[in-house]
Amino acid sequence: MSTVQELLHSVFGFDHFRGVQQDVIERVMAGRHTLAVMPTGAGKSLCYQLPAVAREGTALVISPLIALMHDQIRSADAMGLRAASLTSADADREQTVQRFKAGELDLLYVAPERATGEAFRRLISRVNLSLIAIDEAHCVSEWGHDFRPDYRQLRPLLDENPDVPRLALTATADKRTRADILTQLGIPQDGLVIAGFDRPNIRYHVRPRDGLNAQLKTLLATHSGPGIVYAPSRDKSERIAEQLSSGERRALAYHAGLDPSVRSRNQAAFVSSEDMVIAATVAFGMGIDKPDVRFVAHAGIPKSIEAYYQETGRAGRDGEPAEAWLFWGAEDFVRARMRIEEVEPNRRASERERLNALAGFVEASGCRRAILLRHFGEDPAESCGNCDNCLDPPKTIDATEIARKLLSA
Ligand code: ADP
Ligand code: MG
Repeated sequence: MSTVQELLHSVFGFDHFRGVQQDVIERVMAGRHTLAVMPTGAGKSLCYQLPAVAREGTALVISPLIALMHDQIRSADAMGLRAASLTSADADREQTVQRFKAGELDLLYVAPERATGEAFRRLISRVNLSLIAIDEAHCVSEWGHDFRPDYRQLRPLLDENPDVPRLALTATADKRTRADILTQLGIPQDGLVIAGFDRPNIRYHVRPRDGLNAQLKTLLATHSGPGIVYAPSRDKSERIAEQLSSGERRALAYHAGLDPSVRSRNQAAFVSSEDMVIAATVAFGMGIDKPDVRFVAHAGIPKSIEAYYQETGRAGRDGEPAEAWLFWGAEDFVRARMRIEEVEPNRRASERERLNALAGFVEASGCRRAILLRHFGEDPAESCGNCDNCLDPPKTIDATEIARKLLSA
């Protein structure tokens, strides 16, 4: 048995690697720079946690959100790994730096703002690193759906440590974003490892909005188990939670404007519940590990196909049947168009393309899954047999509907 396999059992308690995990881990163990594109829930963390234990030195993990880092540290702690973060929310920073210098950490989590700074780079130069993981690596790319300028400043840190293997990880990168990540982070073309994107247990449905409240109530009445309803605004998430709560199911709101104690209480209630609904903005979901979510509904269009894939990907992580429902209106596209006119001019073309791809998805008469998978560069079958259009092919096609409404808006 190889060492990595032993560690998989003894430290992480898993029987097998999943999907491409082993490929990725073997590359990192061999010291090769790698970009791993793996769907949400595929187990990206293990790809750096295991080499962090197996290789000498500390793994530096760049992560965009304090909440994500703290979740990761909690689960690393539970497995007996020595992990810490250096963020404004950590009072024990001084102690962490000492442990880091003394080589007493397996994993050190930092935000890109800190990682790119001079002081931190000086600190790094005196410490032995096992690897540098760049989590949520799509943030590097302006083509990605969540660009963060600080991610773009990582190159000096990487170039100063050329022999430390880099592992960039993301769930949501289309072809162009992937190419951009490789270039920005200095990872060779052959360093790309892609896992299959298909989530065969998720059934996709797309419907024009037509009395949303009634549509959501019907959905709840016909679907048991925990569900997430993504709302386009904070206000709407509260209103939807109120309206849905009137029935037998409990529904709570979640958005960044809620008091932090209320927010974490609602999240905890949802995570431990077996039939609750959470009506949330997209602030909800990152880093939440709830395998039995049975449906994810969108009360308006998501930001992009990548965002849609990631948000619906929170359903059915246990592999049991789950559903995704998208309720859209032409006005969603009108509003999104207007917002694009407000972004920096040099980003408008890519934003428009993203919106057009999404319009293509909602108005499609063919297989929804095929569209999603093709978007991520896969070559899927024509028909999946598990989406609305495959199960009940539309009789009349009016592909010009959105265009007509946009023009008359
Ligand atoms: P991602 O970051 O890709 O969304 P995570 O790293 O959070 O996914 O892992 C998702 C879940 O899968 C976690 O609960 C993790 O413990 C579990 N997991 C990861 N690898 C394995 C494996 N080889 N066998 C079983 N469960 C695994
Ligand atoms: Mg992750």
